Amino acid sequence: MSKVRLSPSRISDFNNCPQLYKYRAIDQLPEKISVDAERGTLVHSILHDLFDSPALERTLHKTLEILPDIWEKQLAEKPELRTLISDEKEWSDRVASLLSTYFLLEEPETFEATSREIHVEMDLRDDVYLHGYVDRLDVAPTGEVRIVDYKTGKAPKPGWEEKALFQLRIYALIYWRTQGVMPKLLQLLYLGDGKVLKNTPTEADLIGAEKSLMVIADQILLALTTDEWKPKPSRLCDWCSFKEICPAFTT
Ligand code: SF4
Repeated sequence: MSKVRLSPSRISDFNNCPQLYKYRAIDQLPEKISVDAERGTLVHSILHDLFDSPALERTLHKTLEILPDIWEKQLAEKPELRTLISDEKEWSDRVASLLSTYFLLEEPETFEATSREIHVEMDLRDDVYLHGYVDRLDVAPTGEVRIVDYKTGKAPKPGWEEKALFQLRIYALIYWRTQGVMPKLLQLLYLGDGKVLKNTPTEADLIGAEKSLMVIADQILLALTTDEWKPKPSRLCDWCSFKEICPAFTT
C-alpha cells in the first residue's frame, strides 16, 4: 500500500488550498524562486552553522562574519539568485537585521544545541507517514526537551497563535511517540518583529493534534481517490507559482 506523506508544509498547503497541495505534492511541479524563502534559507543556514563555533564565539559580530561565505555557497547552488536580487547590499542588510534580532531573543553562547535540522518521522498509521525537519532541539542536562523553530516573518496576530503552534505540536507528537518523552517547551522565534511564541504542550494538546492530522489525512486520501482538488482562492494566490494554470483563474 502506498502511503500518504504528511509534513507541516504539505499540511499547510492542503489546508490553504487543496489544488496547491496537488501541484506541489502529487504533480511535483517546479516553482518560481521566492526571494523571501531564499532569505529564510540563508538565515536558517547561518543560525545552523552558528552552533558549530565554540560557545564564546557565538556572537553577532562572528555571525555577520560568516554571512558572506554562506551566501556565496547559496549563490553557487542557485546562480539565478544573482539576477533576482538587484540590490545585494539591501539584501545583506536585511539578513543582518534579522540576525541582530535573533541575538535579542537568545544568548547562544550560554547553551549547546543538541540537534539542528533534525529529521523526525513516524507512521501516523499504516497508510500515513508523518515527518518534518526541526530547526533546533535542545535537551537540558536535566533531560527536559525544547523544540525551537526560527521564523523570518512576524508573529501571528492575536487569535492565530494556535495555528502557528500546530507545526511544533506535530514535531512534539513525533518526538513523544518515538522517544517516549514529552517535550517541555515549544518555542517559535519571530525574527521579523522580535517576538517569541512559547507553549508547554500537554498530552491533550498532542492527542488533539494527532486527531486533527488523522482528519487531514482522510481528506487527502479521499481527494486522491476521487481526484478532486478544490482550488481555494485567497491572498496567497498573488504569490502562487501556479496561478497561470490554476482552474480558479483559467476557467
Ligand atoms: S492560484 Fe490560488 S487557488 Fe490556485 S492553486 Fe494557487 S493558491 Fe490555490
